[in-house]
Amino acid sequence: MTTPQDNWTIQDACDTYLIDRWGSGYFNVDDTGLLAATPQQEGGPSIPLQNVISEATQRGVQAPFVIRFQDILRHRVISINECFNAAIREYEYQGLYRGVFPIKVNHMREVVEEIMDAGSDFHFGLEVGSKPELIAGLAIHEDAESLLICNGYKDEEFIKLALTGTQLGKKVILVVEKLEELARIVSISESYGIHPGIGIRIRLNTKGEGKWSLSGGDDSKFGLNTAELLEATELLKKAEMEDCLQLLHFHVGSQISRISTVGKAVREISRYYSKLKHLGFGVQYIDVGGGLAVDYDGSRSDTESSMNYTISEYARTVVNTIQEICEEESVQHPDIVSESGRAIVAHHSVLVIESFGSVSKNRYDTTPVSKEDHKLVHDIAEVAQNLTNTNRRETLHEANRLKAEAASRFDLGLLDLADKANIETWYWSIAEKVGSLFQDEPTPTEVDELSNQLGDQYLCNFSIFQSLIDYWAVDQLFPVVPLQRLDEEPDNEASLVDITCDSDGKINRFVSEGPTRRTLPVHQFNNSPYYLGVFLVGAYQDVMGDIHNLFGPLPETHIFLDEDEPCGFYIEEVIPGQTIDEVLTDVQYEPRQLTRMLKKQIDQAIKNDLVKPNKGMKMLVDYQEIMKHPTYLKLR
Ligand code: PLP
Repeated sequence: MTTPQDNWTIQDACDTYLIDRWGSGYFNVDDTGLLAATPQQEGGPSIPLQNVISEATQRGVQAPFVIRFQDILRHRVISINECFNAAIREYEYQGLYRGVFPIKVNHMREVVEEIMDAGSDFHFGLEVGSKPELIAGLAIHEDAESLLICNGYKDEEFIKLALTGTQLGKKVILVVEKLEELARIVSISESYGIHPGIGIRIRLNTKGEGKWSLSGGDDSKFGLNTAELLEATELLKKAEMEDCLQLLHFHVGSQISRISTVGKAVREISRYYSKLKHLGFGVQYIDVGGGLAVDYDGSRSDTESSMNYTISEYARTVVNTIQEICEEESVQHPDIVSESGRAIVAHHSVLVIESFGSVSKNRYDTTPVSKEDHKLVHDIAEVAQNLTNTNRRETLHEANRLKAEAASRFDLGLLDLADKANIETWYWSIAEKVGSLFQDEPTPTEVDELSNQLGDQYLCNFSIFQSLIDYWAVDQLFPVVPLQRLDEEPDNEASLVDITCDSDGKINRFVSEGPTRRTLPVHQFNNSPYYLGVFLVGAYQDVMGDIHNLFGPLPETHIFLDEDEPCGFYIEEVIPGQTIDEVLTDVQYEPRQLTRMLKKQIDQAIKNDLVKPNKGMKMLVDYQEIMKHPTYLKLR
C-alpha cells in the first residue's frame, strides 16, 4: 500500500501507465480522471470509456465485454495506405501500393467489413489462408481492382474455390507454399481453361525476431527455396503459363521489432523479383507479408513487445529498398503489397473487466507477543523489532529462516494454527518494512521478488484463456489501466487474477518505463465498481481464445463517433456473448437432455423425501434459468 500524494496530476497518471507511449494518440485521460478514447487522435472527439460502460449497461451488457472503436479501425486502415502513398510520392516510385488485410488476424465480419469499407478508396484487399477464410473472403471482397491473396496450403477444393473468384473478375492470387501445389494449380486451371494469378512464397534467408521468427528462415514450414523456385519456373514455362506468375511473397514473422530486419528481407525479395524479371517472367507484385509491429509496451525499442520504427518509416523502408534494387538491376518497379494485420486491428478493441475483490498477504496487523506463544513467534517478533536500515537484508534472511522452520514444524504436527498464523503475519510485516527501506535505492532481486509477492491480487471477472490467450501462450504484454479515478494517485499495487480455476490465470507482468513490473498501480476499492481496461487486444485474441472452464466468448459493443449524439457516440451494435447453454452445446451437452437428467434426480429426491415437491420444482426452474445466463460472474 502506498500513501497518496495531494499533488497528483492527470499527467502523472498518463506517465504511470505510459498511455502516451502505447496509446498512439487513441487514448488519454480526461480532466475528470476518466480513461478516454480519441479515435481520430488529437483534436478529435474524446469518449470516456466509463460512458460506454454506462450505455452498454443500459443495453443489458455487463463487464466483461469488448469495446470496438470502429473509427480507430478506419483510422488505422487509412493511415497505413496514406503512409505507403506518401512514400511512393516522396521517392517518385513508379508502382502502386495495394495492401490486403489478413483475415486471420481478426475474422469478425463487422471488423472485416469495416476495414473493406475504410480501404475502398485505396483498393485495399483481403488475404485468406484456409477454405473457411476463402469462403468468407469471396463473398466480402467486391472491388475488382483490389487483391484477394490466397496463402496457406491448398487442396483441390481450395484451388477450385479460388478460381471461382478469378472467373468472377476478381484479382485472385494463389500463392504457392509448396512445390506440389503448383502442379495442382496448373492442371486444375488448364481443365477450367483459366489463366490463374499465381504467387510464390519465397523462403528467405532473412529471419524475423522474437516469438514468431520461425515463420521465416531455412526452417520455416512455408515457401520455396531457390532450387524449388527454379523448378517452379520450369513447370510454368512448360505449361506456357509464365505470365501467370504475378507475385512474389515473403512473411518472416509477425511483430518484427527491428526496421533493419524489414529492410534486409525486402532487399532479398527484391533480388528474387529482379532475377525473375531478367528471366522473362512478368511478375507485377512484391508482397512483403505481415510483420508491421505494434508498440505494446510503449518503449519504442527493438524488444519483443515493441518496435523501433513508425508506420511511416516502415513504408519508406519498403518503398525505398525495392526501388534501390530495381534501379540497380534495371527492372520495372513492382506494385507493392503488404499484409499488415496486427497493426490495423490491435488498437481498435479494449477489453473491459471489473475487479470485484482482492486477496492480500499482509491484511492482518501483528499483535503483541504473549508468554503462551510459541518460541518461534517470540523469535520472529524480536527480529522485527531489531530491524534497522543497516541490518535490513540480514533481518530478511533470518525471517525467511524462521518462516521455513515454522512450516516444517507445522508439517510434523509441532506447531498449532494460531502460532503459524502469527509467524506468517510477522513475516509479511517484516517483508513490507524491508521493501520500504530500499525505496530510493537499487533493490536486490530477493527484495524485489518479495515486494512483488506482497502486492495484492485483484480478482477480475474474466478468463485469460478466453480473452488474452497470447498473454498466457507467448508472454505477449498488453497495457492495462484503471478506467476511472485517474485523478487520484493509486494507493495500492496488485497483480490481476482471473476467475478460472487455473493458477496460470493471472496477469503479473505490466508495461513500465524500465523492465516489466510485476504489479499494477491500482486504487483501493470504494463503493463504486472498479473497471480496468486491457488495451491493444484487437489482433488475434478475438478468435484464438478457448473455453477453459467453459467461460465463453464475450459480448461486444461497436462504437461509432457521432457529433449529433449528446454523448458524442452511439452503440451501433451489441453482439451478445455466449450463454451457459450455448457453451455447453458447443461441447456436446444438450441442454434439454441435461434438464431431463437433473429432473430424474430431483424426482427421486422427492420420492425419498429429501426435498419437498415445490422446492424440487423450483430447483429445476432455477437450473434452466441460470443456463440462459452469461458464463461469467454476475456481479450485480
Ligand atoms: N501474412 C501471413 C502469411 C501471416 O502468416 C501473417 C501472420 O502471421 C500475417 C500476414 C499477418 O501478420 P501481422 O499480424 O504481423 O501483420
